[in-house]
Amino acid sequence: MRKPIAAVTADILLADLKPMNQKMAAYAPRPLLDALGRAGLMPIVLPYNDYMKPEDFINTFDALVLPGGLNPTPRLYGEEPLWCIGPTFLKRDLFEAGLIKACISRGKPILGICRGMQILNAVLGGTLWQDMTKQNPKLYIQHMQKAPENIPTHYIEIEKESRLHKVLGDGLYVNSYHKEGIKKLSPLLRETAHSADGLIEGVESIENELICGVQWHPELMEPELMDPLFKAFAEKASRERLAVSR
Ligand code: MN
Repeated sequence: MRKPIAAVTADILLADLKPMNQKMAAYAPRPLLDALGRAGLMPIVLPYNDYMKPEDFINTFDALVLPGGLNPTPRLYGEEPLWCIGPTFLKRDLFEAGLIKACISRGKPILGICRGMQILNAVLGGTLWQDMTKQNPKLYIQHMQKAPENIPTHYIEIEKESRLHKVLGDGLYVNSYHKEGIKKLSPLLRETAHSADGLIEGVESIENELICGVQWHPELMEPELMDPLFKAFAEKASRERLAVSR
């Protein structure tokens, strides 16, 4: 039987490049594809397409990974873009929003990473800080770390009752590369982890055990620290695939 397929929604190269064949290229981070492969998932990269609806792709994969990237467009959560927001790209946002809804209705697992966790929260009715250090003076930790990307810099405490606790334990140091963060948590999600300044660093669905998100970048940390997270996700993908094929 084939391995479960994990679709990684593609980032789009917006820079105006000379090589024509790279214009608006669809791509995904190599360390993430490798981490999924190590966990036994077959990764594919899934770009938006102007002639297809997000739900048209639903049968091409078993689990969805929403990777990092640009800031989610604030209109997704009913806000105007503030002066301090970074670059946004609506087409990718709407594609991911459609995929999230399709996965929920079809019972497919979702893992959101950094921006992926944020857009999950926004699509499910939450809101975001567009630039959290400018909007929330209580956040004093360096969440856009200057240390190398594989180095864990700030601590997160993990909620004892969460499914994440079974995978990663009471807490650990993680890396941190975000200007945005969860402001209001979606009513469909609960917090699984937070940093010492009170920022939400992990979420999971209250009702649906297939949905979770993390604010850090597990794919950039050492494999022995973060492979359990990807393996737990792969197990969900295998279970759901077996349930569907039966
Ligand atoms: Mn952080």
